[in-house]
Amino acid sequence: MAVDVVAVVPAAGQGLRLGAAVPKAFVRLAGETLLRRSVELLIAAGGVSLVVVVVPAELVQEVADELGSAALVVCGGAERSDSVRAGLDAALAAAPDARYVLVHDAARALAPPQLVRDVLAALRAGAQAVVPVLPVADTIKTVDVDGLVTGTPERASLRAVQTPQGFHVDALRRAHAHDGAATDDAGLAERAGIPVHTVVGDPLAFKITTQLDLQLARALVEAG
Ligand code: C5P
Repeated sequence: MAVDVVAVVPAAGQGLRLGAAVPKAFVRLAGETLLRRSVELLIAAGGVSLVVVVVPAELVQEVADELGSAALVVCGGAERSDSVRAGLDAALAAAPDARYVLVHDAARALAPPQLVRDVLAALRAGAQAVVPVLPVADTIKTVDVDGLVTGTPERASLRAVQTPQGFHVDALRRAHAHDGAATDDAGLAERAGIPVHTVVGDPLAFKITTQLDLQLARALVEAG
């Protein structure tokens, strides 16, 4: 069967802000790593034929043994964008005819499968790039290197961006062909002149970054 949708899960960061003994993606929630939960939610959404996870070099074998046939496992790079590129290359080597690619951070391990379906639906409806977004609750300031406030962007037009982010394969390729770092793939797409569409995000797709986030995630999993 032709592979229509592939997914890349970058999990090669150290996750220093969490302060855990293992890289963040390997922290467990009720016995399951954030990485495994992220792979499972992508598969549970339906329609994703291949998942490629990107992990630190020293963990490739261990993760491949753990995930078995659920995912391909490849080695990441120095920056998040290097890791995504490595995952995309591996995905397209295994599935050269794939049309759509989802990029999902392992740290967003509680994202509901419906969010994956919403992103895919927007791609199938014709968007080249799609991100889930939520309004921001806080007022956001820009500051200079000395911590002095330099501006207050109008909150009504600000959105917090989540993953999975979805792309036509060619759009993600073009986005990553441009130089420059970005904290997400849509940022690279914007710079490449690719229109980025939005769908309504989900609070459960929050990024587990700090110990407080981890405690919240544990409480949510325990509550079922
Ligand atoms: O650092 P940040 O929280 O933005 O990382 C987002 C995701 O990108 C995490 O899942 C992390 O493991 C991954 N990442 C990666 N390779 C890197 C840096 C981050 O796969 N070099």
